[in-house]
Amino acid sequence: MSETCVFCKIVNGELPAAKVYEDARFLVFKDIHPAAPVHWLAIPKRHIARLSQAEEGDRELLGDLMLAIGRVARDQGLEAYRMIINDGAGAGQTVFHLHAHILSGREFGERLV
Ligand code: AMP
Ligand code: ZN
Repeated sequence: MSETCVFCKIVNGELPAAKVYEDARFLVFKDIHPAAPVHWLAIPKRHIARLSQAEEGDRELLGDLMLAIGRVARDQGLEAYRMIINDGAGAGQTVFHLHAHILSGREFGERLV
């Protein structure tokens, strides 16, 4: 855990969030500045700053995060969605607690941007 991390504060209940899903290891909550009608952030509760700092020991956690995202999307009735992970400031990462953006509810073209 990082004491200055915004998402750790959400995990700890120090900051509020609109939670979509929660279990012992993962949290999915609504992005405060949505870029689509559905815009969630899916995080491991354990603080990993960014994907490229994940290690072999995080294999199960990362795999289960992907499975949780698919399950929550299905349970919430998302027919299609785009998942984005920004890794590093140069890619637009502003919160350094690993998170996957889940975007849905608008047209996404074949192109990435
Ligand atoms: P990134 O640019 O990939 O680091 O994404 C960080 C995301 O976190 C942005 O889309 C922000 O709108 C979102 N965000 C920052 N603070 C909060 C918060 N307290 N609650 C919900 N979403 C947040
Ligand atoms: Zn954190």
